[in-house]
Amino acid sequence: MRPDCLTPLFATLGNLKGIGPRATQHFNRLLGIPGDDDARLLDLAFHLPASVIDRRHQPGISGAASGEVVTLRLIVEEHFPPPGHKKALPYRVICHDDTGTIELVFFHVHGNWLERSLPQGELRIVSGRVEWFNNRAQMVHPDFILTEQEFETHPLVETVYPLTAGISGKILKKIMAQVLDRIPVLPEWQNGPWLEKQAFPAFRTALVSLHTPEQPADFDPETASWRRLAYDEYLASQLALALVRRMVRKGKGIAHRFDGTIATRLRSALPFTLTQSQQVAIAEIETDLQKPERMLRLVQGDVGSGKTIIALFAMAAIVESGYQASMMAPTELLARQHFASLKPLADAVGMSITVLTGKDKGKARKEIENAIASGEVDIVIGTHALFQSTILFRNLGLAVIDEQHRFGVHQRLSLAEKGMQTDMLVMTATPIPRTLVLSYFGDMDVSVLTEKPAGRQPIDTRTLSMDRIDDVATRLQSQISSGAKAYWVCPLVEENEESDLTSAQERHNMLQKLLGDQVELVHGRMKPAEKDTVMQRFRDGKARILVATTVIEVGVDVPDATIMIIEHAERFGLSQLHQLRGRVGRSDAASSCLLLFKEPLGLIAKERLNIMRQTDDGFQISEKDLELRGEGDVLGTRQSGTPGFRLARVEHHKQLIEVARDDARLIIETDPELVSERGKALRVLLYLFGRDDAIRLLRSG
Ligand code: ADP
Ligand code: MG
Repeated sequence: MRPDCLTPLFATLGNLKGIGPRATQHFNRLLGIPGDDDARLLDLAFHLPASVIDRRHQPGISGAASGEVVTLRLIVEEHFPPPGHKKALPYRVICHDDTGTIELVFFHVHGNWLERSLPQGELRIVSGRVEWFNNRAQMVHPDFILTEQEFETHPLVETVYPLTAGISGKILKKIMAQVLDRIPVLPEWQNGPWLEKQAFPAFRTALVSLHTPEQPADFDPETASWRRLAYDEYLASQLALALVRRMVRKGKGIAHRFDGTIATRLRSALPFTLTQSQQVAIAEIETDLQKPERMLRLVQGDVGSGKTIIALFAMAAIVESGYQASMMAPTELLARQHFASLKPLADAVGMSITVLTGKDKGKARKEIENAIASGEVDIVIGTHALFQSTILFRNLGLAVIDEQHRFGVHQRLSLAEKGMQTDMLVMTATPIPRTLVLSYFGDMDVSVLTEKPAGRQPIDTRTLSMDRIDDVATRLQSQISSGAKAYWVCPLVEENEESDLTSAQERHNMLQKLLGDQVELVHGRMKPAEKDTVMQRFRDGKARILVATTVIEVGVDVPDATIMIIEHAERFGLSQLHQLRGRVGRSDAASSCLLLFKEPLGLIAKERLNIMRQTDDGFQISEKDLELRGEGDVLGTRQSGTPGFRLARVEHHKQLIEVARDDARLIIETDPELVSERGKALRVLLYLFGRDDAIRLLRSG
């Protein structure tokens, strides 16, 4: 049950003055509210300003630097409306102060509001961005024009909020004022001494102060207010994770017994020797599996570091111990690929393996399901749907989840709730910065693969303007004829599959004209069987160029493909580019990656592409991505609607995550059911940050 003190904050915005159904829609969009839900007061309260403007900055015209927002006290000199028939020309008003002259510029002026608001000869307070051209100061569309009297009551430090169509800053502030008025005083959930040591204000005070800063310095991630809110948010998530961890651990696991016979056979069946990192990870997993508690382990490794084989060793141990194992992949394509690559090895060591996805229907499906239920099958590879479905295992001992970015805390929670006894092994698709591992996987133990298989060469990465695309195609032609295989990736166009497809199809046509039927196309809309056929042709070398949408982003493994071309590379996040680039460089042959960009490039885009050229180290790249784009992109959760942090700014507050994790674990040790005074307040905190799923895990939830 949600604590009563939160009721006002959980009311929908529609309860406020001035919000009708239309405005509700706009706010839902602005605040990213998924599905049919409506935004609540809470959601708006957590919508922090993007910046503040200091209207006290009044340097006079001559002291205003170009590009700076200033507030000027101006005497209106003369109006220059555009000549009657030339409406496209600007309306200019010349003004001056003691230090110089400035031109105010307006476009598309209707009626006579300028004459009314800027009467000749009078004093007006005008605020906006100044630009200098040829020693003349100009201000286009000032933020405001006020009389001296009006300016007296105007806030000197103004907040600027992220907005959306249909919601102006003015409306938002009006609604926000009502919301701030209704934030209740909540019980304190932080530990007293810690609160004092950090000089944290109360939750309510902190939140209100970020929305109504008195000085620009009040709106700074380093203030005690913002740090407090960040800490609150981290603590909520760490507490939820700690509850999940306790729940998972508490459930009796199976102490698996195996002596490594299958593993030994596997080692000799492998066409390569395991890296040191792989061996360490396998040993860590084997130790976990033998313990009576359930395993909850994350394997982190750069693209191509060889995570799949680790999963096979884990599954082998389970099979030897007399149980079944499953491995889940995020897409059909990957499930089938894993099956194809693991089947020969499983056969060689006498484990039976099958694959089951949404594609298998009717009688064939029934047969597979029966084999799983009877225990005839040792290993089942499938998509995540395996989890949701009604598939019954005879005795599932291990669930491996590959490319877990899409396998969030919520899914882990629901697994824990189902009370499954299975051990869990989760493998990441890309390296994740340590701070994010802590904040999203704080409940798990971690194995990190620090090296790649021997003999891998660095991928030669270059950037090139899209204007040169014809040259690229010609060069590709000669590379192909000397036996190379290439991926050509077309990007997401405005998050719309339809147009994505068109660009990929167009590129496919263009390349096919040049190179004939060695060019294949794969995209997300294709039927699984069609995808399989295409991938197989590419694997076999019948096709040598695979034009693809980002479906190949994760996990596709065709070791003798050595060329990666990415169109509109500037539209991708770093982690995504790294993931794509990781499709090549998977053997000891030299590989290359060409990042085609559309000019002109913004500063950040330029920096991103530079980083890709400079480093091949996924951990470094993901740290950079976090800095440049935020965690939603790094984790690939932005589109999936998984909530990230709303108040905390990882780049400023990350050092608080570790503290919050220790705090959370201590809380769970001393007050496991959250029943003390502080424990009850902490329940409020969990609800406040939408982590209340975890409360169901409490006995008295
Ligand atoms: P990822 O970590 O990206 O999931 P994969 O498991 O797909 O990487 O492995 C990448 C490629 O490297 C595969 O073709 C795999 O067979 C191969 N591989 C894995 N481990 C080794 C190793 N120790 N030596 C050589 N090749 C390896
Ligand atoms: Mg993989």
